[in-house]
Amino acid sequence: VRLSDSGILVDIGYLAQCRNEGAQSDIQPLQSAAIGWSDDRIDFVGPETDLPFELRERTTHSAEGRTVIPGLVDCHTHLGFGGWRADEFRMRIEGKSYLEIAAAGGGIRKTMAQTRAASEEDLIRHCRTYLKQYLELGVTAVECKTGYGLSFEEELRLLRVYRKIGLEVPLDIVSTLLAAHVVPEPEECNKKCYIQMICDELIPAVAAEDLATFNDIFVEEGAFSADDARRILGAGQAHGLKAKLHIDQLGDSGGGALAAELRAISADHLEYTSEEGMNAMAQSGVVGVCLPFASLYLNQPPMKARSFIEAGASVAVATDFNPGSAPSFDLPLAMMLACTMSRMTPAEALKGATIIAARALNRDSQYGSIEVGKLANFAELSVDDVDHWMYHFRPNVCEATWIGGRPVHGLSTPPNS
Ligand SMILES: [Zn+2]
Repeated sequence: VRLSDSGILVDIGYLAQCRNEGAQSDIQPLQSAAIGWSDDRIDFVGPETDLPFELRERTTHSAEGRTVIPGLVDCHTHLGFGGWRADEFRMRIEGKSYLEIAAAGGGIRKTMAQTRAASEEDLIRHCRTYLKQYLELGVTAVECKTGYGLSFEEELRLLRVYRKIGLEVPLDIVSTLLAAHVVPEPEECNKKCYIQMICDELIPAVAAEDLATFNDIFVEEGAFSADDARRILGAGQAHGLKAKLHIDQLGDSGGGALAAELRAISADHLEYTSEEGMNAMAQSGVVGVCLPFASLYLNQPPMKARSFIEAGASVAVATDFNPGSAPSFDLPLAMMLACTMSRMTPAEALKGATIIAARALNRDSQYGSIEVGKLANFAELSVDDVDHWMYHFRPNVCEATWIGGRPVHGLSTPPNS
């Protein structure tokens, strides 16, 4: 290991470790802390006074008293899309219903048409723009769903865009197949034949090229049913794709029990999930994903994250970034809204956007906490502590972002070597 591949970060005023163990509120804070890394992995975390003598020889960076958190993880986005739908934003405020907007040519199918019309280079440029801004917010991993291609070729094209951009950016890009978003062009291809195409052709092709980690479905009236989920998620699991669900967003579809039955890694939205559903998720270890922007923009009741946590379930927080119901990628803002709307404490929201979000991506052995053996992914924030960060919310408090022990944003202080 060359000297430049190892380093230490000292003078950390407040460090949130966010290890998996303990309650969701237990972020294992340290004061006057230091972090050491060798290659891209953390090999020391603790009080600065405990830093071993050998490590003090390494390239030294100062956090100048700032707060350090694990790199944030956005575990639910629809990053790859063409075009926007600001007209629908205004129409909803004016009182138009979802059906009226769809009848006027809006909704997911409008984004489908705009995404299909975008070139591969357009889509890569779009993703690149937002991933750069994610780094500025302290985000180091982003899950990316398809769902705007909605045909065999177009869904594969979006997954290949995610693969390409993932090789270009320092963030970890985790891809999810969401072919079961809505049925495209219902008059041309009925639901039955679309589902058959997903199960018999698309999923095997995705698995053969190893293009996705997860397989997702939108379970809602007008989209897909619980039985469709059993079939499509089952077909994915037979090809090694772990299951995720968009469920209980606009009504209770028995989402908690279904997610447990299907051994899903996460169930997302959950605004209308019953107490039985919460208990089923707690018992089976399915991560619940809270998406406050969707509730805010659609003026819908938020997920009862407090009740999930009290039932013993783990709750992640994500943006749901998409051009319809959640056109923002500001993950710290989503965390603040999870506090105010869904009654999570700031510490719970932080664990929800780090280690629990990493668990929802099956990546928690790699990152999500500041812990020996994990990737040296972390962010330096100009705040005193996590409560104050969420309470006195400012546009962006992230001063520096690190991935694998390398600065990828900020770093105003030159290292002394
Ligand atoms: Zn979504």
